[in-house]
Amino acid sequence: MLNHDFRYPDTAAFDFVVKRLAERGVDLHRLSEIAYDLQHKFEPAISKDECYQELINVLHKRELLNNAMVALELDRLAEEGQIKEPLLSIIKNDAGVFGVDEALALQTANIYGTIGVTNFGYLDRLKYGIIKQYDSDNEHVNTFIDDLLGAIVAALCGKLAHKYA
Ligand code: MG
Repeated sequence: MLNHDFRYPDTAAFDFVVKRLAERGVDLHRLSEIAYDLQHKFEPAISKDECYQELINVLHKRELLNNAMVALELDRLAEEGQIKEPLLSIIKNDAGVFGVDEALALQTANIYGTIGVTNFGYLDRLKYGIIKQYDSDNEHVNTFIDDLLGAIVAALCGKLAHKYA
């Protein structure tokens, strides 16, 4: 199956992730505002608009897009019952000992260095802002999306921190 002629579909991946996040009710401005809330204490010059622009830059990173596509699709497939057991029940019930959602999120948070990992842990404990609504929504499968959102914000915090270091 390995095809050396395959051209990586960066634009399609970006469009897919942004569209799916919108379908799942994620407002990108609200996401970037979390990073603003966390980072402006350390760097008062940061503006909300800059945080949003940097979020769009972060969302163009191939490593992040790869993880985001897998995370979003696993939630969708589980919700539609298109995964085989026992994995289906594990994902649908957000089993605490599963950990693949967090593993994927940690790798995502790490793309701008370990500051992202620290921020991910902080956001995971806090369930801050928009991330919180997925934790208490029992209508959809949110096993991967809550960690993904925390990881995207955490990576953004890492990028902002490095920019001003
Ligand atoms: Mg999770």
